Amino acid sequence: MSVSEALFARALKVAPGGVHSPVRAFRSVGGTPVFMSGGRGARLIDVEGREYLDFCMAFGPMILGHGDPAVREAVAGAMGRGWSLGTAEPYSLELAEYITGRIPWVQMLRFVNSGTEAVMSALRVARGATGRSKILKFEGCYHGHADSMLLRAGSGLAEAPVPDSAGLGAMASRETLVAPLDDESALEAVFARHGSELAAAIIEPLPANYGLLPQRGEFLRTLARLTAQHGALLILDEVISGFRVGFQGYAPLAGVTPDLVTYGKIIGGGFPVGAYGAS
Ligand SMILES: *Cc1c(COP(=O)(O)O)cnc(C)c1O
Repeated sequence: MSVSEALFARALKVAPGGVHSPVRAFRSVGGTPVFMSGGRGARLIDVEGREYLDFCMAFGPMILGHGDPAVREAVAGAMGRGWSLGTAEPYSLELAEYITGRIPWVQMLRFVNSGTEAVMSALRVARGATGRSKILKFEGCYHGHADSMLLRAGSGLAEAPVPDSAGLGAMASRETLVAPLDDESALEAVFARHGSELAAAIIEPLPANYGLLPQRGEFLRTLARLTAQHGALLILDEVISGFRVGFQGYAPLAGVTPDLVTYGKIIGGGFPVGAYGAS
């Protein structure tokens, strides 16, 4: 038995599936998850000292590689000052000014701890701002693990989404519509039926959790037009694409201006940081 196999056998007794995120389990590819002890640059090192070239980079955050020296120095400096002060502090202000100064549609933002929280919060802001409750999402897009985002299209009807997980409340499926990607006529139909009930449409402009499927600019511009026409807000989930395909994310490449935008992953460089911003 390898060291990873022994660790996995122990992990199965204390964590569902032996992991703390379904993407770390090897169920869909077979075999036993490899336990990593560390990483340097483009490589991971497993618990038996073997090196691996890392094509995943923690699903996005580690764009500078593992253990980047400049990041280590900044983190060590921050640790020296104390952590989690539970008060106002100047550090998040500096980053907020840096971002708002460079992305015109982010006039204000709030930091949270994860992409999931950024999405949950953006949805709540959209509902609060519009006084409406329904949200439109798109087949195959991943937006974290908030209840209302764990739904996918049923048999063709946006009105009858199917849960991707047990344990979702009935409200999640009542208030979430699911439309197919890359299909303007389906979009027109959903807005014709439900436009006046929609608080927001949320989309990954560069769906990266379903194969990499950059959406046509025209499709995204149609979505932007329909949301504006019907008084709904457009939320671009740039948790993966933000600060990566360009500093301003995918929005300028597609020629759309979101009302709300969500960030995660790379914004924390491997630490738990997310943010949502709006005009
Ligand atoms: C990863 C991801 C999320 C969720 O972010 P977490 O920090 O894992 O909660 C949301 N949206 C997109 C597009 C993501 O890729």
